[in-house]
Amino acid sequence: MICIHCDSPNPERWFYCRNCGNKTSESKFTTNLYMMSALGKRTDIELTNTTVEEDIKHRNKVNYSKYKNKFLG
Ligand SMILES: [Zn+2]
Repeated sequence: MICIHCDSPNPERWFYCRNCGNKTSESKFTTNLYMMSALGKRTDIELTNTTVEEDIKHRNKVNYSKYKNKFLG
C-alpha cells in the first residue's frame, strides 16, 4: 500500500500516512459520505426531475406508463 499523496510506502496500512499525515487512500466510507453530501446539494435537480415527471404525467396520462417502463425498467 502506498500513500496517494506522497507515494510513501505504507506496508502496515496506516489510515493516515506516517510521512505526510494525509489519508493514505480514499475509503469507500469517505466516498459514500461525499456522494451523500453531493446528492444533498442537488435537491434543486431532484425537484426539477420530479416536476418534469409530474408534467409528463399530466400531459399524457395514457403514455406515462410506457415512459415509466422505458426509463425505470
Ligand atoms: Zn503521504
